[in-house]
Amino acid sequence: MDPIFKRVVLKISGEALSGPKGAGIDIDTINQISMEVKELHNLGVQVSIVVGGGNFWRGRSTKEMDRTTSDYIGMLGTVMNALALQDSLEQLGVDTRVQSAIEMRQIAEPYIRRKAVRHLEKGRVVIFAAGTGNPYFSTDTTAALRAAEIEADVILLAKKGVDGVYDSDPNVNCNAKKFDTLKYIDILNLGLGIMDSTATSLCMDNKIPLIVFGIDEPNNIINVVLGKKIGTHVKE
Ligand code: UDP
Repeated sequence: MDPIFKRVVLKISGEALSGPKGAGIDIDTINQISMEVKELHNLGVQVSIVVGGGNFWRGRSTKEMDRTTSDYIGMLGTVMNALALQDSLEQLGVDTRVQSAIEMRQIAEPYIRRKAVRHLEKGRVVIFAAGTGNPYFSTDTTAALRAAEIEADVILLAKKGVDGVYDSDPNVNCNAKKFDTLKYIDILNLGLGIMDSTATSLCMDNKIPLIVFGIDEPNNIINVVLGKKIGTHVKE
């Protein structure tokens, strides 16, 4: 089987990196994800990754703090995840670059679209850190923005604890129904919590296809890119 996508944005939530610990970084979990990314890379797919930071901090959850400051802490959390992922990938021999939306020259390149595309063309995995660099946004919105900017074929939204989009929370309602396909407008109209409305609108307006799938099952990232029917496919 050949990959059905040439250039992808893989969005990995911070939670997915925490493994069974539920917070922080779990090295075994991150290594497992890196092995799948390496396989993807070996298939000739251009892989960029947007990492979340929810395993460390979520700006909106800390009501006692100024929201903007809290969001910057969240963005810094994504940088820690990006560096951990880079280390893990490089230990497997995969050339990577971290590009940060907030300048930190000692540890990451600044985000420059043309450079990111060039890295991908040269076969390097590019990890986008620090979200969009702006408070009040999410890393899902970052994935939509970067996908539009680098003209990715698809966003692969890897989720922990859920294997697609449901009409209600499957971890609470055992009768929850999973969607195989969905339109962005349905996510907005039905108020489905899979992505925030900013990210959803950006994907919808720019006609970026999205596949939402579970990352707990081994090899799911590869299987999605090989075109196997996994998760929920969201289109314009
Ligand atoms: N964040 C932000 N702007 C961005 C991206 C992220 O302010 O463009 C902050 C925000 O506080 C967010 C946190 O970083 O809660 C972690 O990102 P996110 O919640 O998207 O991570 P995930 O849930 O995917 O792990």
